[in-house]
Amino acid sequence: MEKEGEAKFLNNQIFYMSVLIFLDQSEGHIKKNSLEAASYGAKVAELLGTSAEGIVFGKVNDDLAALGAYGLKKIHTVSGDAVNSLDSQVFTSGLAQAVGMLASKVVVFANNLDGKSIAPRLSAKLKAGLVSGAVALPDISNGFVVKKNVFSGKAFAHVSISTEIKIISLNPNSYKINKTEGSAEVVELNMQVPEAKVKVTGVNKVAGEIPLSEAEIVVSGGRGLKGPENWNLITDLAKLLGAATACSRPVGDAHWRPHHEHVGQTGLAIAPNLYFAVGISGAIQHLAGVNRSKVIVVINKDPEAPFFKAADYGIVGDAFEVMPKIIEAVKKLKGM
Ligand SMILES: Cc1cc2nc3c(=O)[nH]c(=O)nc-3n(C[C@H](O)[C@H](O)[C@H](O)COP(=O)(O)OP(=O)(O)OC[C@H]3O[C@@H](n4cnc5c(N)ncnc54)[C@H](O)[C@@H]3O)c2cc1C
Repeated sequence: MEKEGEAKFLNNQIFYMSVLIFLDQSEGHIKKNSLEAASYGAKVAELLGTSAEGIVFGKVNDDLAALGAYGLKKIHTVSGDAVNSLDSQVFTSGLAQAVGMLASKVVVFANNLDGKSIAPRLSAKLKAGLVSGAVALPDISNGFVVKKNVFSGKAFAHVSISTEIKIISLNPNSYKINKTEGSAEVVELNMQVPEAKVKVTGVNKVAGEIPLSEAEIVVSGGRGLKGPENWNLITDLAKLLGAATACSRPVGDAHWRPHHEHVGQTGLAIAPNLYFAVGISGAIQHLAGVNRSKVIVVINKDPEAPFFKAADYGIVGDAFEVMPKIIEAVKKLKGM
């Protein structure tokens, strides 16, 4: 019988060991996108007949052993001052060492801010092929082919990775979290990481706001709202739904809303479960950042607005009449 961790032959390539999943954390908690990456990595490991292991940098408050429920056999921790805040060069160095120590052949990231800053560096350092923004499991029937989004979500590409080490970063909301039972072994990985070149000296958090990149629901406004004085229509609904707020680019440019709320091709790309677009035309550059949302609700007074083509639900109407009615309806539903 084959033992886990032994050499395996697949498409004439040798796989010795684990699929390694980078688990990123925020304030000691493993992020949801990483749980998607863990579930995805566990399935990749199953396809390859090997095991999935996670790696975490810095102090974590979550019960790491419980991550076994997502299919991870082992969690490797890396501790020390240099890894307590994200420095992509330090993390890349640590991950490169881990890949060598664990003989990992596939490394999986979430394609979020951390993944985007580390995966390409690791790819260059290890001379390993990288597919960023994967949306499906690799097809290993003939090589190692990964499907990804291209042209801002307008098309798919199937990219073959032929290097010995393969790196995948998974688009948020592209793979369902698979939680079952199980416990992972937690082990400290001893390594020398370089001194951080960048030091975080302080963090000013905006109190009470839900981070846009992690929000399950987003309520977003465009120029149709006429001015910042009307933004209560957006923020009131967001508060009721526990949602984050976003905006189109001209709204950020006009300083009606802070720039970090701007979504789209030149702003943040998001993939919430529910995206409300209020008074936004649906220009291609805006859609590029939101078209991976699971459900899109569009409120626009122009029935010809391009956003309706991308909408799951559309309301043709004046936002100043429709939004108060939605807010009232949600309040009623919540018994408020
Ligand atoms: C290189 C490049 C990059 C860009 N990147 C981005 C990007 O990342 N993100 C982004 O958003 N844009 C981006 N843009 C700009 C983009 O092309 C559009 O100009 C922009 O998205 C339009 O914003 P808007 O829909 O809020 O405004 P508008 O185009 O002015 O649309 C307003 C909409 O509100 C509707 N409306 C008006 N009054 C009401 C009302 N009372 N009730 C309901 N609906 C109403 C109108 O029918 C209209 O559809 C980019 C452009 C370029 C050239």
